[in-house]
Amino acid sequence: MELIIGSHVSFNKDEQMVKSVKEALSYKANTFMFYTGAPQNTKRVELDESLALEAKKMMEEKNIDINNVVIHAPYIINPANDKNRDFNINFLKQEISRAHFLGINKLVLHPGSHVGLGVDKGIENIIEVLKAAIIDDNDVDICLETMAGKGSEIGRTFEEIKRIIDGVDNKHIKVCLDTCHINDAGYDLANFDKVLDEFDAIIGLDKLSVVHINDSKNEINTHKDRHENIGYGYIGFDNLIKVIYHEKLKGIPKILETPYTGTDKSYPPYLFEIDMIRNKKFNSNLINDIEDYYNKC
Ligand code: FE
Ligand code: FE
Ligand code: ZN
Repeated sequence: MELIIGSHVSFNKDEQMVKSVKEALSYKANTFMFYTGAPQNTKRVELDESLALEAKKMMEEKNIDINNVVIHAPYIINPANDKNRDFNINFLKQEISRAHFLGINKLVLHPGSHVGLGVDKGIENIIEVLKAAIIDDNDVDICLETMAGKGSEIGRTFEEIKRIIDGVDNKHIKVCLDTCHINDAGYDLANFDKVLDEFDAIIGLDKLSVVHINDSKNEINTHKDRHENIGYGYIGFDNLIKVIYHEKLKGIPKILETPYTGTDKSYPPYLFEIDMIRNKKFNSNLINDIEDYYNKC
């Protein structure tokens, strides 16, 4: 089976998902992830049916399986806190409908931060929001992301994710594993087999639906959540390659969310990172190669 690898890409008002597909193809990716609007606000443009069809046609032609494509819900939704509960529920419902409209069945969601309410109450809130928002008669899965544990973030352990899954008790609840986040949460990526065994024992590998591939700017267990380019952080190239090519993760889309490079952070690293990953060979000149390439464009 072919490696399914892509990155975060943009989506805009005028071209919508067509823009996302074009960008993914420019990185030689065979999947991608996007927000259907700004991640930090709730303004959402109306989705255009003909653009969605055009994007789907492009994907078919270029062998991008839409079942591997991912939408990320905006992080403004905080289901762990009971402030704005109705808004959160309605917004999440709308995101599910938008994913369904576009033909995408993976929606990544941060469990949120309890902001002083405590983990138990936070988890209770998340369960309530998810139960109210899930639309049973469509095929969109909500993939809860494992978090770094910054501040009062919930989802910093597999046990917390499992409690949410059990509480909601719906087949549409799945998981997105983020390598930077689990490193920062205290899981040792140098011993990934053990991490995966733990994941399997607590949550179950059948729930794993998306993997975010990021290096980390910080050491294990620092609860920071700052992504680094592949091979340039504390997780390291070899450990990330082991995750990407792990036998048990075959068929699961791998999505890069590593930082842009260059002086004004305007160069996407993904073409070069994907190349490095496909070759399984670390490029110690990555940052310069990216700069040279985009300066010529
Ligand atoms: Fe995320
Ligand atoms: Fe992530
Ligand atoms: Zn992150």
